Amino acid sequence: MSEMTPIGTGLNPVQESVLAVLEVPADQRPVFPRDIRITAKERLEDAINDKAPKLADGDHEVFFNKHRLSGVLGCEEKFLAERFHKFEWNTKNAVGTVSHKALELAFNMEGGINANDLADAAVEQLVMDAVEQMMSDNESMAAFLQDCSEADMATLKSGVVERVSKIVECFPPINNSMNPVTETRLAGTLLGGKVRLSGVVDLVLNPGAGEPAGAKEAVEDGESWSDKSDGDKSAEADDGLVANKVIIDFKTGWQQPNHRDDLRFYALLETMRSGVPPRLLMSLYLDDGDLSVEEVSQELLDATIRRVADAIGRHQELTQDKTTPKKNTGPPCNWCTLQVECEEGTKYLEERTNYVNA
Ligand code: SF4
Repeated sequence: MSEMTPIGTGLNPVQESVLAVLEVPADQRPVFPRDIRITAKERLEDAINDKAPKLADGDHEVFFNKHRLSGVLGCEEKFLAERFHKFEWNTKNAVGTVSHKALELAFNMEGGINANDLADAAVEQLVMDAVEQMMSDNESMAAFLQDCSEADMATLKSGVVERVSKIVECFPPINNSMNPVTETRLAGTLLGGKVRLSGVVDLVLNPGAGEPAGAKEAVEDGESWSDKSDGDKSAEADDGLVANKVIIDFKTGWQQPNHRDDLRFYALLETMRSGVPPRLLMSLYLDDGDLSVEEVSQELLDATIRRVADAIGRHQELTQDKTTPKKNTGPPCNWCTLQVECEEGTKYLEERTNYVNA
């Protein structure tokens, strides 16, 4: 994939639009305060203490990922009914993870390849390699893949072929200077372990890291960042820390407001993890080739802190204080386990069907 097409030539319009937002001159990247890691964490802990005052002194712990955040801030009835449902892999929800592992392998392949090679000939091998490579860091996924029937594996591979092909069609070729990392996990621990936050990002790019104009390269343990291969690079400017990273989610289906919220949550986690916020958040919609891009700012991080604290506060009210949950209709009604018995959800879905068929 790294040599697939020379960057800047032979790209389709969607690839060009993605490349345009990735290629920002070094001296135009935002600079954040050096203490932003500490202040972000302190502000989040203060906001959580404000919204969920019993949490710090209680003996229970809470865990939030993007699904639980949007769940508790969405339809509370649905959230409470489904909060103990055990996640299980299937041929649909495994497509993303296996595809991103296939992409990771593609990034490291030598020589020229193209989308058709990936889609038609190489995917089977990439999927099987992915199974082996995921054994250590994702046991449940590996177990699911190993137990897959022939028919299920064929279904899964078909989904992987489609997703990988669309990503390659929509995304410009990645070269090593972008330091691509797929399926990277971010986590945060707050209030002495009372609150744990977690997220998994589809793709992180760190283009031109360590090369901002007038900046000095960050060095750790005597090793240049440019010698490291994990893409975890940052750079210092005279007045702060330069943001380089681009966090990318690949999406299928329609655009939803919570997609942007998910990326903002990742930005906050990355800020608390590495001490440098990402520069840009990008959702790439594979079905229609649309791009949603947002620059990371202090205001964005502050809004995200408020959203996370609101969710944790409301979670406490619903689960500890036993506040009556509210219903909130929306796209999640489509896959809600309460749908059959829910008047509001049924009415909402009927109206949606009428609207689509009009
Ligand atoms: S069907 Fe919709 S409104 Fe009803 S409980 Fe489910 S998500 Fe909420």
